[in-house]
Amino acid sequence: MRTMTCNQLGGACDKEFRADTFEEIAEMSKKHGMEMFQKGDEAHLKAMKEMQELMKSPEAVKEWFENKRKEFDALTDE
Ligand SMILES: [Zn+2]
Repeated sequence: MRTMTCNQLGGACDKEFRADTFEEIAEMSKKHGMEMFQKGDEAHLKAMKEMQELMKSPEAVKEWFENKRKEFDALTDE
């Protein structure tokens, strides 16, 4: 299991996610982001807007994911 925070995954708080694979943790952070979005949380709305900007460029999204995956892989397995 590895741990990453909402902040580390392009979000806006210190909530921690724990998962075995990057795909899982990305999914968890996405779900959390949607929840916060529905609650109308200002900080997460801003973070999501930035992600949406990024999504306009497939190259940028790919690079972002690759970087985050590397970060995840570099973490100590608990
Ligand atoms: Zn968050």
